[in-house]
Amino acid sequence: MSPSPTPLTDLLGFDPHLVTLALAPLFLLAMTAEFWQMRQHPQQAPGSARYTWADTLSNVTLAGLYQASDVLSALFTLVVYNAFFQIRLFDIPFNAASLILLFLIQDFCYYWFHRAHHRVRLLWCSHVVHHSSEKLNLSTAFRQSVTYPLTGMWLFWLPIVLIGFPPESVIFAVAISLAYQFFIHTQLVGNLGWLEWFLNTPSHHRVHHGRNPEYIDRNYGGILIIWDRLFGTFVPERATPDYGIPKPINSHNPLVLTFHEWRSLLNELTSAGLSWKQRIQTAFGPPRGRQEPSMTRRHTNP
Ligand SMILES: [Zn+2]
Ligand SMILES: [Zn+2]
Repeated sequence: MSPSPTPLTDLLGFDPHLVTLALAPLFLLAMTAEFWQMRQHPQQAPGSARYTWADTLSNVTLAGLYQASDVLSALFTLVVYNAFFQIRLFDIPFNAASLILLFLIQDFCYYWFHRAHHRVRLLWCSHVVHHSSEKLNLSTAFRQSVTYPLTGMWLFWLPIVLIGFPPESVIFAVAISLAYQFFIHTQLVGNLGWLEWFLNTPSHHRVHHGRNPEYIDRNYGGILIIWDRLFGTFVPERATPDYGIPKPINSHNPLVLTFHEWRSLLNELTSAGLSWKQRIQTAFGPPRGRQEPSMTRRHTNP
């Protein structure tokens, strides 16, 4: 989709937009290995980790729908990113230092993208899809929403383009982050020791998928967990997580999973007797029943 080869395209040997597709065989291999490991050693994994046809099929279908919407939205996103790139603040050279800086800033933006999608009802309508399974295994990473472009996912990375990082590099960095996060959706990996201090690990992400009250709206990190530690949203894995959302959807239908929260929001917004102020609060306030995480509860031990 880029009009001409870029230093990143030259380095990779393929278009950075194709990262997810290029890694697809690795994802399939990892899922097969996880499935096989649990089959050989069932005592190692709880029932919530096991693959079932219904859950896995809906995860894979949602991944396909998400990829299709991503391809379409990338066309729009690139036009907007390229326009903003023309008014960039800096001309940033392509080298190892700028790549490290890009990955750090991308991860920071990912944290706020993810936190906003948990704390703003309208954005939660998209993100709830990822949390709707009561299982957690590698295939859960595929459970994504086609409506992310509607809730402005692309907006959260626009500042990086404005700083002066080329659009295709930004999209590449986001894709690498999402690819990394695929591997942390597992119950087969325990505590990773000193890595738990700065990396988002399977343990930290299991907490994120837990509906235990103390785990709700915690551990938003992408590749790094340092942002959660800095901004007071980090919680270590203590109790075994109970996966899913507090009010289960009880469906494997991808359309129900994608649109149930949109429908619920629309019903609330159109209910009689609501003032405009209440409508705005409903759409932009936190999702129902979710308390603001206490900023004073900071946990520093992994
Ligand atoms: Zn989340
Ligand atoms: Zn996840």
